[in-house]
Amino acid sequence: MTYVERVLENLKARNPGEKEFHQAATEILLTLEPVINAHPEYEKAALLERFTEPERTVLFRVPWVDDNGVVRVNKGYRVQFNSAIGPYKGGLRFHPSVNLSVIKFLGLEQILKNSLTGLPIGGGKGGSDFDPKGKSDREIMAFCQSFMTELYRHIGADTDVPAGDIGVGAREVGYLFGQYKRLRNEHVGVLTGRGLSYGGSLIRKEATGYGLVYMLDEAMKTRGDSLQGKTVIVSGSGNVAIYACEKAQQLGAKVVAMYDSNGYIYDPNGIDLSVVKQIKEVERARIKEYAERVPSATYTEGCKGIWTIPCDVALPCATQNEIDGESAKTLVANGVKYVGEGANMPSTLEAIEVFQKANGVVFLPAKAANAGGVATSALEMAQSSGRLYWSAEEVDAKLKTIMVNIYRNIDNAAKKYGFEGNYVMGANIAGFEKVADAMMAHGIV
Ligand code: NDP
Repeated sequence: MTYVERVLENLKARNPGEKEFHQAATEILLTLEPVINAHPEYEKAALLERFTEPERTVLFRVPWVDDNGVVRVNKGYRVQFNSAIGPYKGGLRFHPSVNLSVIKFLGLEQILKNSLTGLPIGGGKGGSDFDPKGKSDREIMAFCQSFMTELYRHIGADTDVPAGDIGVGAREVGYLFGQYKRLRNEHVGVLTGRGLSYGGSLIRKEATGYGLVYMLDEAMKTRGDSLQGKTVIVSGSGNVAIYACEKAQQLGAKVVAMYDSNGYIYDPNGIDLSVVKQIKEVERARIKEYAERVPSATYTEGCKGIWTIPCDVALPCATQNEIDGESAKTLVANGVKYVGEGANMPSTLEAIEVFQKANGVVFLPAKAANAGGVATSALEMAQSSGRLYWSAEEVDAKLKTIMVNIYRNIDNAAKKYGFEGNYVMGANIAGFEKVADAMMAHGIV
């Protein structure tokens, strides 16, 4: 058994039942074999054992009162995974499916993603099993205030800087920041994704979706290809999905389908994004409404069918494991040429294998392809520290440069170890090398 295999086996035994965490650790560690083999000193320093064990895990109770006066209790999490290259950084997710395994898989991925941005940020992640859907604004505020009343002790502008994720957008970040400021009496960049009136950065809202398409565009350019006239599927209809769709459309693509957790819309004329924004960002309603407002569109209950629609480009931007092996096979059979992951771990291990074995399919893995969000969060931190604002053009240009650089780095790392075009390996290796180097420099900590 190799060192990597032993670490994985141990990790599964010591963290029983954490299936998402096992999945992410397996995907990452198995691709690191070539680096580990080149560095026998890593095993002596138990580097992988330390890399896969969070530095700190905070679990807490979040009590709040709903509009009927009923006391509710949710679970709160913050996993401070790795601070070797900078303060912990990573979003907060509010969704009923959140548990320790989900937060740990996201945190582990985040370490490498943040390293890939080239910026000084470590990895962390947090959230709650609270479901914001159907809650009043007052209930959301009450929950966020209670959540921050515990979290504020553990975070700080130079320690740990959370941001949004599923279920945590501008509204939630606003309430969380307001409570932090009140408790600490300091106006600092402790959260990113803040509103523009109180320290936020232009382009942060768009950054993950735009960044995904900037990387895709670069991958296409190096192959003499472009998005012009391509048929695209974007799953989800939240923050990442909406801005991935917007940038893909700006570059000439036709986005024909999107979904939320109830079902998908198909519009062969191309999605009218202003209608989606009105439904999802303004009304906070269901995507089903789109088909009631746009005559060329149809709505189908359930999500999985979206992957049976023929397309050139698939951009999964909703949640983990939304493309399984079967859906991947259907996409390939229907001629997909590019898969860019906007969501975290949207493809199962089986699906990744299908994409990588298929001839000519370019697969851009999440930790590289969706790094534009956290990269722009780091730009927001820089602006906060400098007490200044950069223009939208400036932030957008920096984002684009970062995404192109990440693409080149993962491409080079894959080539360096003899796996040309395997961006899963390229991203894991390029992200890991820097973190490993910093961890070795710090001694056994
Ligand atoms: P949002 O909450 O804004 O949107 C999530 C979207 O995905 C919604 O349309 C939601 O539908 C859908 N969705 C959630 N769960 C499921 C499910 N089980 N099945 C089908 N659809 C589902 O989140 P974001 O757009 O911020 O995040 C999307 C993904 O991108 C996540 O994986 C996140 O970790 C990742 N990501 C986000 C970043 C960011 O900057 N926001 C940065 C990097 C990665 P519904 O409304 O019905 O719940």
